[in-house]
Amino acid sequence: MRISVKAPAKINLTLDVLAKRQDGYHEVEMVMTTVDLADRVDLTLLAGDEITLECSASFVPDDERNHAVKAARILKERFGVKSGVHIYIDKQIPVAAGLAGGSSDAAATLRGLNRLWGLQLSLEELAVIGEEIGSDVPFCVYGGTALATGRGEQVKLLSAPAPCWVVLAKPPIGVSTAEVYGNLNVDNIREHPSAQEMIQAISDQDFLGMCRALGNVLEEVTLPRYPQVRQIKNLMIESGADGVLMSGSGPTVYALVQKEAKVCRIYNALRGFVKDVYAVRLLGGTEAEVLAQIRT
Ligand code: ATP
Repeated sequence: MRISVKAPAKINLTLDVLAKRQDGYHEVEMVMTTVDLADRVDLTLLAGDEITLECSASFVPDDERNHAVKAARILKERFGVKSGVHIYIDKQIPVAAGLAGGSSDAAATLRGLNRLWGLQLSLEELAVIGEEIGSDVPFCVYGGTALATGRGEQVKLLSAPAPCWVVLAKPPIGVSTAEVYGNLNVDNIREHPSAQEMIQAISDQDFLGMCRALGNVLEEVTLPRYPQVRQIKNLMIESGADGVLMSGSGPTVYALVQKEAKVCRIYNALRGFVKDVYAVRLLGGTEAEVLAQIRT
């Protein structure tokens, strides 16, 4: 028996860091949403006991370091599952890009194995298990649009934003999330985005309000270190993007665009500059529709 699960990337509409915590994590406040750029996770039931993984991208770990393997291992041990699974990841989301690809693969594995192994766990229960794998995994279990607080694991679902196009561009550099957070001086953040303003714009289906409320404090660390990230932002703005922001700790930058005619112009301008460019839709629609889309 084999099932396929879609694992969509996320973008940050806002990312704020409120404080450094005693446990070493940062207290964050983020509005996140899923986009239609997704890995496909195929789960094949194995009669034997083992958990194996293969990924279409050779540089992604295929052992216990892979977040999808971690997810399968936790479910198998916690619920005494006798059978095993072979996980195949068709990688479409750029790696170490600020798009939570690994977290989304883990979340898709949790949702898929819940069905394949007949565990009958709720999404809430899967999200709690996801916390053990990574801070972004609970959000990825639900998908859609949400406010994430704490270290990112506390998720409050929101309605879908106004539909639009998202043009993503990733320069050919690897950015370490730990390093970016390590170089952030929380007491000296110049401008905090307002999650409330973003939530209001989303609930009002106010596309331009959403563009105005975009903000990510980690840009203050990543932009000065990686000039390409700023260049991509500028190129997107010059090409007519309605809103532009870096996602997560970067280096991926995205443009929000309402008019389809502008999408081609921005895409082509970027393709002359970087190889990894994607034009996709926000995963819009009602919450139930979004969940139905990402569950299969
Ligand atoms: P986030 O936005 O949550 O910080 P990211 O998009 O920056 O995530 P990922 O693509 O999730 O980063 O990859 C980060 C690291 O995780 C990679 O360098 C890789 O070694 C490891 N990793 C583990 N499992 C996976 C997976 N299934 N897919 C991609 N990377 C994985």
